[in-house]
Amino acid sequence: MHEIYCPSCNTPSPYDFSDYLMMCPYCSSTFKLNIETGQKEPFGNHYIVPNTMDAAAVKELTIDWLKRLHHKPNMVNKEFYVTDIKGFSLPLWIISLEGHTAWKGMIQKHKRAHNKDEPLGSDFIVEEGQFRRSYRWAVSARNNILESWGLTRLHEPMEAIQVEWDGFPLDSTFSRGRLDDPEEDEKSAYDMRKFFEFKLANGVPILGVEVPEEEALRRGRDHINLYHYKIAKLNCDYLIDQRTELEIAGIQLIHMPFWNATYVYRPRSTLRHFYKPKQNHVIVDGYSKGLLSGQLAITHKDKVTINGIVAIGAALFFLLLGASWHPAYYLVSLFALIVASASAWLSLSKMTKKKDEQLSKKHASFGPAIQEQPGEAV
Ligand SMILES: [Zn+2]
Repeated sequence: MHEIYCPSCNTPSPYDFSDYLMMCPYCSSTFKLNIETGQKEPFGNHYIVPNTMDAAAVKELTIDWLKRLHHKPNMVNKEFYVTDIKGFSLPLWIISLEGHTAWKGMIQKHKRAHNKDEPLGSDFIVEEGQFRRSYRWAVSARNNILESWGLTRLHEPMEAIQVEWDGFPLDSTFSRGRLDDPEEDEKSAYDMRKFFEFKLANGVPILGVEVPEEEALRRGRDHINLYHYKIAKLNCDYLIDQRTELEIAGIQLIHMPFWNATYVYRPRSTLRHFYKPKQNHVIVDGYSKGLLSGQLAITHKDKVTINGIVAIGAALFFLLLGASWHPAYYLVSLFALIVASASAWLSLSKMTKKKDEQLSKKHASFGPAIQEQPGEAV
């Protein structure tokens, strides 16, 4: 930390010179500092979305969410403990851009076995297509995207696509996962941004800006290229060619409010002897109170699996009793074995079903995700 004078209000205060931008704690003006020449250049494109939550509200929201997912909602207060709540205002580079993708690929005409007399590939046709999407694409301005749980994969696309990037579309992310219905004339988080002022964080720490805008632009471009490549691949059986052109309309820095709640699950039933409590997390957007991401402590599948293990144990126990004491215990043992196989079958069928449903389920539990519409960018 080094002490320098703010170019706007001339008040001295300590700054971290490894940050990309300096923010004056007195007048909230943002500036770039050239360490070699000492020159200070004001940076005006800096906004903040006001934080509207506090720790008590985040705790209440987390409990509400758990109640909605728990098959016995009245057990939530007895079995779940919120252990830690942290809020912060995270700097994000918001890139307004439009991506235009043209693709070419092979599509199978009808699904049938290849006829030996026909030339190879004759049941495929070449198709071409294009699509265009607008985004306000958010890229973290922090070097360590792992410093808070859940900030590495906030993008939840509508398409069945494995996300391999940390950037996300701002509007569809900061409007999902709401437990209450938004009001009709409600403005988006982006529309509610104000010129940057420390006080609008409403009590949460403001994290410093570490990533330069050139890097954010490069990363944002890479994210969209990869995303559009994956969308193009969904259109055909064999993608041959794909070209994405990006038009960048602008970039700005916005501090956005996030909350991270940590909770543990301690079941009251016999299950507690088989379950080692571990910390789970929920991430909440601190403007519109949406649940952006959440970890479930235990699923129905886990319970069925544990049930199966207990039943196998019982089957062995009664088998032993049957052999050493009275043959009637063989029947009890058989019954336990039937319970165990039923549990195993349930577990397995759930697992295969889950794979197919994973995407749609994810969106269902976090509320409808909104697809990016053209014309969203400014
Ligand atoms: Zn100042």
